[in-house]
Amino acid sequence: MSDFVVSARKYRPQTFDTVVGQKAITNTLKNAIKNQHLAQAFLFCGSRGVGKTTTARILAKTINCFNRTEVVEACDQCESCKSFNEGASLNVYELDAASNNSVDDIRGLIDQVRIAPQLGTHKVYIIDEVHMLSTAAFNAFLKTLEEPPAHAIFILATTEKHKILPTILSRCQIFDFQRIKVKDIADHLAHVATQEAISADPDALHLIAQKADGALRDALSIFDQIVSFCGTTITHKAVLENLNVLDHDYYFKVVENALNEDIPACLLLFNDVMEKGFDGHHFLVGLAEHFRNLLICKDPRTANLLEVGETTEKLFVEQAKKVDGAFALRCLGVLSKADVDYKSAKNQRLLVELTLMQICSVKSELEKKNP
Ligand SMILES: [Zn+2]
Repeated sequence: MSDFVVSARKYRPQTFDTVVGQKAITNTLKNAIKNQHLAQAFLFCGSRGVGKTTTARILAKTINCFNRTEVVEACDQCESCKSFNEGASLNVYELDAASNNSVDDIRGLIDQVRIAPQLGTHKVYIIDEVHMLSTAAFNAFLKTLEEPPAHAIFILATTEKHKILPTILSRCQIFDFQRIKVKDIADHLAHVATQEAISADPDALHLIAQKADGALRDALSIFDQIVSFCGTTITHKAVLENLNVLDHDYYFKVVENALNEDIPACLLLFNDVMEKGFDGHHFLVGLAEHFRNLLICKDPRTANLLEVGETTEKLFVEQAKKVDGAFALRCLGVLSKADVDYKSAKNQRLLVELTLMQICSVKSELEKKNP
């Protein structure tokens, strides 16, 4: 049996240019290295799985490379790069403040900071989840952060910027990592699939990307999970089943039925959804998002806010032509009220059914108003 390496590790980016979805940040860092204007303390903020630690490691590797390329990337050949690639470099030091947040942990780090690097020029200290450091640990660290030796660079990473003390914020150059766009994640998954000789339906990869909600690491672990289930062919249907996602198809049909004012068809369809084990609230929220997507498609200026695969996008554009704006807006209103009422409703199923009946009546109501 071959050794299975999880994709998030196997495909961890090794250069600035391969970091997914954070171009503005990686370009700024590259320029700072090129112009020798690199700050000594950084704060990397952003939700989990968006590339903070990865970027920190790439920065450490690149500034220590003996042979940087013209585009300011590490050469991957020199002694320093090799030791980074083997995970043996002494120039990068990682502290996870979530589990090591005491004064002693920080003192250990401060003692380290004084020692100049043996190989290369800089030592990079990455403190992950820095907001978890105890107040005492923070205070012990502050002095070092104020007057670091020339060879030291601190990269503090956090998912909760609001918890960082102003004294720390004011001493760091701050980078806000964005949630990664669904399309960027899907593209990266497609790249991984090609490398692994897996054939994957683009819509299926979009679905995985959507489920990951902006975190590349999550997307890659879902991808691994699907691969272990599907083998070398990933289909849309298999992903839907595996992730327990309701197919867009249901929502397209609801809208179709609403336009035909076909209440029984809507109720039967909802029954089908319930029998599949989905939750009524989940269905309402999904339907509201569907209407939102239809509205977005109606104007070419907002059309690129749609975050779905190509095949599904065509279906949206097609349905949006049949739906007028007033109709979609009214339905959204009905759905948003149902969303609010759902928790307090005694009979939640009835609430959803009532909502569907209202949606099926919207068209004739509007026609009565504007004959
Ligand atoms: Zn190198």
